[in-house]
Amino acid sequence: MHDVVVIGSGAGGGTVVKVLTDLGINVTLLEAGPMLNPVKDFKEHVWPYQVDHRGVGPHAEGYFGKSPWGFSYFTAPNGYWNVPGEPYTVAPDSKFRWFRSRIIGGRTNHYGRISLRFSDYDFKPYSFDGLGADWPVSYEEMSPYYDKAEEFIGVTGTKEGLRTAPDGKFLPPVAPRVHETLIQKACQKLNMPCVPSRMAMLTKSVHGRAACHYCGQCGRGCQTASAFSSSQAMIFPAMKTGKLKIITGAMAREMITNDAGQVTAVSYVEKATRTEKQIRCRAAVVAASACESARLLLNSKSTRFPNGLANNSGMVGRNLTDTTGYDLGGFVPALAGLPRHNCDGIDGMHVYIPWWLLDDKKKDFPRGYHIEVGGGFEMPQIGFAHGREGYGSALKSQLREQYGAWVGFSGRGEMIPNASSYCEIDPQTVDQWGIPVLRFHFRWTEHEIKQVRHMHETFTAIIETMGGKVMPKKFSVRGADAVSIGGEIIHEAGTVRMHDDPKQGPLNRWCQGHEVKNLFVADAAPFLGNPDKNVTLSIVALAWRTAEHLAEEMRTGNV
Ligand SMILES: Cc1cc2nc3c(=O)[nH]c(=O)nc-3n(C[C@H](O)[C@H](O)[C@H](O)COP(=O)(O)OP(=O)(O)OC[C@H]3O[C@@H](n4cnc5c(N)ncnc54)[C@H](O)[C@@H]3O)c2cc1C
Ligand code: SF4
Repeated sequence: MHDVVVIGSGAGGGTVVKVLTDLGINVTLLEAGPMLNPVKDFKEHVWPYQVDHRGVGPHAEGYFGKSPWGFSYFTAPNGYWNVPGEPYTVAPDSKFRWFRSRIIGGRTNHYGRISLRFSDYDFKPYSFDGLGADWPVSYEEMSPYYDKAEEFIGVTGTKEGLRTAPDGKFLPPVAPRVHETLIQKACQKLNMPCVPSRMAMLTKSVHGRAACHYCGQCGRGCQTASAFSSSQAMIFPAMKTGKLKIITGAMAREMITNDAGQVTAVSYVEKATRTEKQIRCRAAVVAASACESARLLLNSKSTRFPNGLANNSGMVGRNLTDTTGYDLGGFVPALAGLPRHNCDGIDGMHVYIPWWLLDDKKKDFPRGYHIEVGGGFEMPQIGFAHGREGYGSALKSQLREQYGAWVGFSGRGEMIPNASSYCEIDPQTVDQWGIPVLRFHFRWTEHEIKQVRHMHETFTAIIETMGGKVMPKKFSVRGADAVSIGGEIIHEAGTVRMHDDPKQGPLNRWCQGHEVKNLFVADAAPFLGNPDKNVTLSIVALAWRTAEHLAEEMRTGNV
């Protein structure tokens, strides 16, 4: 009998593994993907000219968004929009995209590391404006866990005293670059905050991980572990405690329960042999990512739970949300032809714009969004200068002149949960392991469409205040299609929500099954909303709290 079985090793699973093993509890981790070897798998210092076809594949697949699964020169390994042999389906009237990783550390090997705390009103959205549902936890209860998460993973930032962007335990910020200084000046004129970004990259050494050396390639992985990943920062150290057993290549299929409805074992497919195995446990923590966790519970049917484990409420799979996304770029003549200068830094932005209109009663949509900024002399990505006309030295000098003179703005906004957005088991489709797959239903409402229209106006105003010109991509032409496709911003949440009322949510305030006391969920599935802040810091903070509670339940004999 294993003490605790954790399923999934991403942000949530990695945190639970770290906290429980630190407390001396024996943990067995089931991970569908292989072990990660950063030295071999991460390619952040490999130049495109060092690899065949400059890394875009023999048939230039990379130019068409079709990077091969498992390995790409431009991203960390084993994460992409399609997983071979593991399909999902989308209802005919919906659009949805699902980025998944299959490797130790999950999508934390790939993520952008933007790390923002939720605000006080994000935990009480219904009390704030009558939409959505309040969380059974408050910011005051979560704040100490944000402290622990930030201190451990390392997050840059500055104290700004903004209600929309609560301050945290920050490492020193990274200095703004030339284009970011111009953006800050424009924002000042427009009365908008533009503050140092909050990113999980180390500006000084923390917990034995080296400080960042500013190669700016974090999306491809970080061999020095200066960019946070649960694999390098949590799981590898936990392996040294002697308390962690890892089973890789293990795709959990189903949770097995006894007559009392408690989890007794996890059934999984050992991929290498394609055989079914079972692992008995005292408690199980499901942290396979929000939608995979819902899938696992829905596929775990028994006489006591005919609709799936812990799902007598019928709420598993419901309330699926993602973040809204809208991008706009502009050409800024003041940045054209600048002498080449050091633009190094962490990957992504050094400044960002938190939501600034919380008290505006005139806007026509609820809640808000933050703005992520791009630009500068970054290493050109695949498809750079695609579509530019001309050839020869005239084209070259035009590209040199304009390189670094483009700025980009990405809005990331709150979605209000709605009844039309959910996932369920597709009765007709199974994956290569014979496990029934998810079918997605997804719909943005007028709230999100109006918010995105506001983003367009805001970004236009910033670009024009910088003396620039927006790219010819007008919202009026693109209409409602301008908003990202559901799932595209990769912040899925809400599918196994917590609630004090067991009829409203399968989990209690500790992310523990109301009906199944030895079942815990530790990813974004328990969330009751999806505020404009990127989800991962909150996954870590909530998983930390969940793991401590589980340890206490084990100590007192309740589990
Ligand atoms: C390109 C990119 C950029 C992003 N940028 C940001 C950002 O800037 N800020 C931010 O906050 N978030 C960002 N995200 C999102 C972030 O990566 C996720 O929120 C986070 O990793 C989710 O953690 P998780 O523990 O829920 O799941 P994951 O990290 O997805 O890990 C789940 C793990 O479970 C395993 N698993 C799944 N099913 C099973 C099964 N049945 N059995 C066994 N194992 C299973 C998977 O193999 C995987 O390793 C980004 C994501 C991507 C891909
Ligand atoms: S910029 Fe820093 S954190 Fe990112 S990959 Fe390079 S060294 Fe790592």
